[in-house]
Amino acid sequence: MIGPVSLPGREGAYELDVAGGLVAAIRRVDAPAEQLALPAFADLHVHADRAFARASRPARSLADAIELVVEIKRTSTEEVFHERAVRLFRRGLGHGSLRIRTHVDVDELSGERALRGVAAARDDVAGRVDVELVAFATKYTDPATTAGERRVERALAAGADLLGAVPRLHSDPAASLERVLDLARAADVGVDFHLDETVEASGFQLEHLADAVLARGMEGRVTASHCCALASVDPATAARTVAKVAAAGITVIALPALNLFLEDRGEATPRLRGLTLVSELVAAGVPVRFGSDNVGDVFYPYGDADPLEAAWLAALGAHVDDEDVLLAGICGGRTRVEPGDPADLVLVAAESLRDALARRPAGRTVLRAGEVVRG
Ligand SMILES: [Zn+2]
Repeated sequence: MIGPVSLPGREGAYELDVAGGLVAAIRRVDAPAEQLALPAFADLHVHADRAFARASRPARSLADAIELVVEIKRTSTEEVFHERAVRLFRRGLGHGSLRIRTHVDVDELSGERALRGVAAARDDVAGRVDVELVAFATKYTDPATTAGERRVERALAAGADLLGAVPRLHSDPAASLERVLDLARAADVGVDFHLDETVEASGFQLEHLADAVLARGMEGRVTASHCCALASVDPATAARTVAKVAAAGITVIALPALNLFLEDRGEATPRLRGLTLVSELVAAGVPVRFGSDNVGDVFYPYGDADPLEAAWLAALGAHVDDEDVLLAGICGGRTRVEPGDPADLVLVAAESLRDALARRPAGRTVLRAGEVVRG
């Protein structure tokens, strides 16, 4: 029995019965709620292979961070990649994440060491955290080239679950984007792009992605992470693109911490926030999620792999007031705890979601199929 707890979308306090790993019953009780019970978190965008890897100075921009991380990647052993990933997965689990999707760099700098190390970490936390690996073709791996294609195919064969890429950084971004879709379709895997991670409207790719997904019948198989430039293109283009993204069944992942930190960064105070059009996408029926992205590394010196922090920053940075949107964003689409649901829960010492976001209390209890799990 769990409780008394408060639950999202309900007034009062409740006790929960668990049977067979599911929430079997929910009873209203006349007692003060001790904690808030939320659906377990799903952090769908992190970089476990580089987590906690700091450089000698902070990055001045996304492009600067990509340069700063070169030496770190080149000199990291498989064991180091493994240690970083385990540390990140345990950190996320402690906060309540039972599902974590991590991109793993696929290029000549990390070799195959990164994927092997992070896959070993996935094995270490199996049964506690469900880890999805994205084979992330970086700036140095263009899937539109023969060499890039071979490298990506090797990564998929080595155990990656999805294919990822950053088409904007290649010589022909459109060709790169389309090649990734074709490779993913041939391998029967999903795709998660780093797309339009810029406040520049030029080179905008999200509309092309939606068109290409629809043309291939890949609806529901594709995720677009970042999509910052959607907030920079003209309103007509934005509205047309949002409708196409909805039709293509594309999930959009906003990364508020990274976008607020790196976008429009320079000597002057930023004028642009770098966050995608969260409210407009949600209104069109697009699944929008909030991820942690980089944690304590070259790209972002802060962060703690805490989904409550990602939701709090989305509330601040993108003015997301709707608590169901915030919850769906960090709970893999779940917003309620109902009888028949998996008893995958995180108990937070907070009075309400607002209170939980404001304070992000430590000492959470994480339940998987009704059993307490620890890092
Ligand atoms: Zn990322």
